[in-house]
Amino acid sequence: MSHEEPLVRVENLCKTFKTNFGTLLAVDNVDFTINKGEVFGLVGESGSGKSTIGSMLVGMYNATSGTALYRQEHNIGIKHSERSKWLKQDIQLVFQDPGSSLNPRKSVRQILGVPIDLFSGEKLTYQERNHRIEASLARIGLPPEYLDKYPRSIGGGEKQLICVARALSANPSFIVLDEPTSALDVSIQAKITNKLLELQQKDNLSYLFITHNLCLVRNICDRIAIMYLGKICEMAPTQSFFNNPLHPYTQMLLASIPVLAEEEEKLKPQRIRSTGEIPSPLNKPKGCSFHPRCPHKNDICTQIEPQMAELSPNHFVSCHLLGA
Ligand code: SF4
Repeated sequence: MSHEEPLVRVENLCKTFKTNFGTLLAVDNVDFTINKGEVFGLVGESGSGKSTIGSMLVGMYNATSGTALYRQEHNIGIKHSERSKWLKQDIQLVFQDPGSSLNPRKSVRQILGVPIDLFSGEKLTYQERNHRIEASLARIGLPPEYLDKYPRSIGGGEKQLICVARALSANPSFIVLDEPTSALDVSIQAKITNKLLELQQKDNLSYLFITHNLCLVRNICDRIAIMYLGKICEMAPTQSFFNNPLHPYTQMLLASIPVLAEEEEKLKPQRIRSTGEIPSPLNKPKGCSFHPRCPHKNDICTQIEPQMAELSPNHFVSCHLLGA
């Protein structure tokens, strides 16, 4: 379902890192909005800048320049330590690897109790606190006996559900999900994404869903943005995106998705095949940064950077070939 009240608005957002080899522009003038109750997918290969954006929105890094506003007025281009308690509570993160994000020395009861102690805003009795911890576990569909288990005795999918429950224990409005299923077996991935979607719809949560896997976003996201070398090259509502992918890089990604049925193979873009490697973000090509891999490039592509243009309602793309 599409929603129009902006929750997160990002404009000209940039993030640079100093390295031994020079300045790395990890996020390069990115613009997007995530609306209330929306699932927004940010997709790209490793090094595209997608996780850096997620890390900035939760305060792991500050923005180098540009703006990131939450609920139209709260600056979230700043670090977690500089944020108000309310902002820390209202924006939560679920990491890729549940194994390393849960403290092995703490029981599930202790893990789920931390955000309740930090953010409940009132003095709870022992029973009230326990009741809230049990309710957090029940929301993700695990039985009460898990409360006294430790992470080492829990499977990968269940550990990730505990991470989701920990995020929900803070009672947030917005959750950044950074590759939440990529460390899990394929058989468990669907179970986790279905649960995430169920929770989002039940509580009208907003998600930033970061992934390299286009198959996953089709069923979970309202809108999708594709990132390449720090920039968004295409952004569209999910249906428009899959029915009419426009950017050559998007077509390349879609063409490389493995499918089982011949009918599905026929639906995939056939116009472009993957060629070459993603260039180093430390040494971005001039003009369109996709030009070294693009079979449609012409002279202008190597000299002038294309700008984002809206080619159909809410469907944005940056490519000279498409008049952008
Ligand atoms: Fe290819 Fe040129 Fe479009 Fe870049 S601007 S994607 S090089 S056609």
